[in-house]
Amino acid sequence: MPAFSLDPPQTAWCAELRALAAERLRPLAEKGEPGHVNRPLVAELGQLGLSQRLFTSGAVDLCLMRESLAYACTEAETALALQGLGAYPVHAYGTPAQRDRWLPGVAEGSTVAAFALSEPGAGSDAAALELAAEPDGPARWRLTGEKCWISNAPEADFYTVFARTTPGAGARGVTAFLLPADRPGLTGAGLDMLSPHPIGSLDFEAVPVTADDVLGEPDRGFRVAMGTLNLFRPSVGAFAVGMAQAALDATLAHTARRDAFGGKLKDLQAVAHQVAEMALRTEAARLMVYAAATAYDEEAPDVPRRAAMAKLLATETAQYVVDRAVQLHGARALHRGHLLEHLYREVRAPRVYEGASEVQRGIIAKELYADMEAGQ
Ligand SMILES: Cc1cc2nc3c(=O)[nH]c(=O)nc-3n(C[C@H](O)[C@H](O)[C@H](O)COP(=O)(O)OP(=O)(O)OC[C@H]3O[C@@H](n4cnc5c(N)ncnc54)[C@H](O)[C@@H]3O)c2cc1C
Repeated sequence: MPAFSLDPPQTAWCAELRALAAERLRPLAEKGEPGHVNRPLVAELGQLGLSQRLFTSGAVDLCLMRESLAYACTEAETALALQGLGAYPVHAYGTPAQRDRWLPGVAEGSTVAAFALSEPGAGSDAAALELAAEPDGPARWRLTGEKCWISNAPEADFYTVFARTTPGAGARGVTAFLLPADRPGLTGAGLDMLSPHPIGSLDFEAVPVTADDVLGEPDRGFRVAMGTLNLFRPSVGAFAVGMAQAALDATLAHTARRDAFGGKLKDLQAVAHQVAEMALRTEAARLMVYAAATAYDEEAPDVPRRAAMAKLLATETAQYVVDRAVQLHGARALHRGHLLEHLYREVRAPRVYEGASEVQRGIIAKELYADMEAGQ
């Protein structure tokens, strides 16, 4: 794999995306209500053609969008990513009828999607999920149970829902369903979390589904979930890199102008070396994210390991960089509404979702030993 570098059109596109995020998306994000889906923001992402690009370009473009939007407007970044996470299973595994019904609305920004895998009793161990899909006649089921910490719930227009069609079969007994939000028996509630984006729980009381709602094949839904996460994992890393870069740039500006001890903060070597370390780690994470995304686009065999490494390194790095940035800004960073106060809340959850850091280490180790045994 060659070392990663952006070509000039990609660099120009990133600059354009940052400008769009600052000028067109940030004002809409600021008008949004915390904890609720911001439909005008989602619509604008559609108008700008970014939602369409979720499906027409590869993992590298997805990462470029997520990093660039995160730099200037994390709310827009997350709104776009959630559309991708919820709708990618329809794009990749849906029938023509499912795709025609739902994807145009996602692309134009009028339809809100969500990805519902986690449950109160099955987070990291997603194969233990228990939302029951009980047979209700031929090719019909009723969904009964609960989903928890589902971004965009309960306000999404449809959910990619993973349910157990074969009890006791672990990952092999899970089916993915495309569930419109207005199905009888489906209710939900918002959750008040540290991270500012909309998130909630879903309650299923004998919700009817049929073969027409299945994404992929019955009992093969875990592949849908893992196929989606393999694409999105490096892009969670890109989100983290965008936040780290924003924190780094704010720190450069602040330490260059803040008077302290007869000079500027940056004149203190202890400060300058911290800034250097922040830049070093951010760049290392960025390289790993784009290497993983490139591997995905090239259908390389080592995507799971690379995706796990990229997500792990970038999210841990962003936590470090944002924390350092807060430190070097002092008290002002802790004012509510300050960029760093916002990033400090945003940066925490990515180390937990789409596979906690420990889970990524497990994947990396498993892949390494499997490669060793295969003699590679
Ligand atoms: C902001 C936010 C948004 C989310 N959005 C969605 C969404 O849209 N859709 C969705 O389905 N889910 C979503 N989730 C849920 C998320 O995927 C789960 O939180 C995650 O999978 C971890 O599950 P858990 O919280 O139950 O933690 P647990 O599985 O209980 O794990 C707790 C901790 O135990 C440790 N641990 C777990 N497993 C291992 C292991 N194998 N080895 C070593 N240590 C381990 C880790 O430190 C881990 O953080 C979201 C979560 C958050 C915070």
